[in-house]
Amino acid sequence: MGVAALAIDYDATDEELAAVSGEFETQSPEAVLRWAFEEFGPDVALATGFGAEGCVLIDMVARITKGARIFYLDTDLLFPETYALRDQLEARYGIRFERRATRLSLSTQAAALGERLWEREPDRCCHLRKVEPLREVLTGLRAWITAIRRDQTAARVSAGIVERDQRFGLIKINPLAGWSGESVWEYIRKYDVPYNLLYDHGYESIGCAPCTSPVQIGEDPREGRWRGSCKTECGLHK
Ligand code: SF4
Repeated sequence: MGVAALAIDYDATDEELAAVSGEFETQSPEAVLRWAFEEFGPDVALATGFGAEGCVLIDMVARITKGARIFYLDTDLLFPETYALRDQLEARYGIRFERRATRLSLSTQAAALGERLWEREPDRCCHLRKVEPLREVLTGLRAWITAIRRDQTAARVSAGIVERDQRFGLIKINPLAGWSGESVWEYIRKYDVPYNLLYDHGYESIGCAPCTSPVQIGEDPREGRWRGSCKTECGLHK
């Protein structure tokens, strides 16, 4: 049975999900995206943090449809270069990203929980500023699309192209799960996709400014995130 014939939703069986995901292993990310928009219509959205992988997906989505929902989580702590890239992508593709954020301002957070929460309790800070806003947007969706790749972290190694997201209760689609970092940059060069200029200054994985630093030659790309702590994920993809 071809994937187009398989209707998938959160209550699909493990076998059905595995069948769809398995078929997409040999297909392009664009084919996965086309299927996702046909299958879920307005009930699917792409999440982006404006990393290199996210920029690739934004370019692919813009070639397929102008009507897709694309959102980002604004912690109010992103780099100026990231906000500039957001504006550049909007102008290039003629799209508008949906901003999702906590209602807790940084000053209110500091007054309630102390200054620089990210230095003392990064899990709590990520939960407040990323996970809760994400939960809010995902509540209204049947599926979400992410830019994760399997080789980024230990937690992502087993990511399927299409899988059940038990944490948030919907389908999760990872069109680039099988891609390498080299494939991402090849695509960016081939299509002249805008990317975060911090990549040209030693940054390999870019999140909030207080928790992101450049990496040295030989370091794992995500070692620049929450440097000095064992934390490797914000809690969005556990
Ligand atoms: S990455 Fe750092 S600053 Fe951003 S939400 Fe997480 S702990 Fe807070």
